[in-house]
Amino acid sequence: MTTRLRVGVIGLGAMGAPMARRFHAAGWLHAVWNRTPAKAAALVGELAGEPGVIHAESPAELARTCQLVLTSVSADADLQAVVEAMVPGCHADLTVVDTSTVAVDTARRMAARLAEHGTGFLDAPVSGGVEGARRGSLVMMVGGAAEVLERVRPALAALATDIRRLGEVGAGQAAKAVNQVMAAGINEAVTEALALGEAAGLPLDELIDLLGGGAAGNWFLDHRGPTMVRGEYAPGFRLALHHKDLVLCQQLWRQLSGAESPLVATTLGHYETLMTQGRGDEDISALYRLKCSRRNGSQK
Ligand code: NAP
Repeated sequence: MTTRLRVGVIGLGAMGAPMARRFHAAGWLHAVWNRTPAKAAALVGELAGEPGVIHAESPAELARTCQLVLTSVSADADLQAVVEAMVPGCHADLTVVDTSTVAVDTARRMAARLAEHGTGFLDAPVSGGVEGARRGSLVMMVGGAAEVLERVRPALAALATDIRRLGEVGAGQAAKAVNQVMAAGINEAVTEALALGEAAGLPLDELIDLLGGGAAGNWFLDHRGPTMVRGEYAPGFRLALHHKDLVLCQQLWRQLSGAESPLVATTLGHYETLMTQGRGDEDISALYRLKCSRRNGSQK
C-alpha cells in the first residue's frame, strides 16, 4: 500500500501553481508557500474544500509539517534563499525535490546543506513546459539516491509520465543542460529553415505539415511552426528563461571541456539581441523575428 506523504510546494509561478494543482487533485497536497503571499492565498482559496490546503507562514513552517517539499523557483540564488529559509524546519523525514533549472554545483550544495539536518534532496528539473505541468505529462530528470526517489515517486507520478534517475545529485541538472542545448539547436534550425521557406514564397502551413511527417519533423516544428509564421509568440517557454538556462549550459560546458559551445554562444547572442528589443517575455520561437529581419530588414 502506498503511504500518503504530506506534500508542500514552494514557488507558485507558471510551473509551480499547476504542479500544486496536480498534487491536490491526486490527494497529496498539504501546504503551499510563495514569496508573494497573494498568489498562495489565491491558490488556497481556489482549492478550498476537503481536504483543505494550508497557506504556510514561512518555508520553515512548511518544511516542519511536510514529508516532501517541491520547489519551483526562478534561478540559483532564489533556490539558495528558499533552502536557507526552510532549514529551521528541516527534519529527517523530509525530502526536498527541486524542479527549478539551476547549476549542477548549486544542486550539490543544496543537497549537502539539507543533509546537515538529515533531509534528503533530489534535483529533478522538468521538460514539457506549462502545458506538461497542467496535464501531469512532464518528463523528470532526477539526480540523487535511488531509495530517496523510490520513497517520493508515488507522489511525483501526479506530475510526470516519465521519471528517470540518471545518477547522483547533479545528474538531473546535467541532463536538463543537455536538453536545453538541444532545444537551442532545434530553435535555430527551425526558425532559420522557415525563414528560407518564406523567402522562397512557399505556402508555409502546408510546408510545416508536410515536413513534419518526414526526417526533419520534430515537436517544435509541429507546435511552434504554425504560430511563428503567423507572428504569434505567446509563451510557451519564455526566451529570457531559456537564456538563463543557456548561461548555465555554457558554464558547464566550459567547466567540463575547457572550451565554449559554438551553438550555445550563437543562441545566447541571438537571444540577447531580442532581449534588448524587449522580447524576453515572448516564446523562444520569437527567434523567427531575427531570422526574417536578417533577410529582409524588417521584423515579423
Ligand atoms: P515564474 O513563473 O517566473 O515563477 C517563479 C517562481 O519563483 C515564483 O513563484 C516566484 O515568486 C518564485 N521566486 C523567485 N525568486 C524567489 C526568491 N528569491 N525567493 C522565493 N521565491 C522566489 O517561473 P516558472 O516558469 O514557473 O519557472 C520556474 C522554474 O522552472 C525555473 O527555474 C525555470 O527555468 C524552470 N522551468 C520552466 C519551464 C517553463 O516552461 N516555464 C519549463 C521547465 C522548467 P513570486 O511569485 O513572489 O515572484
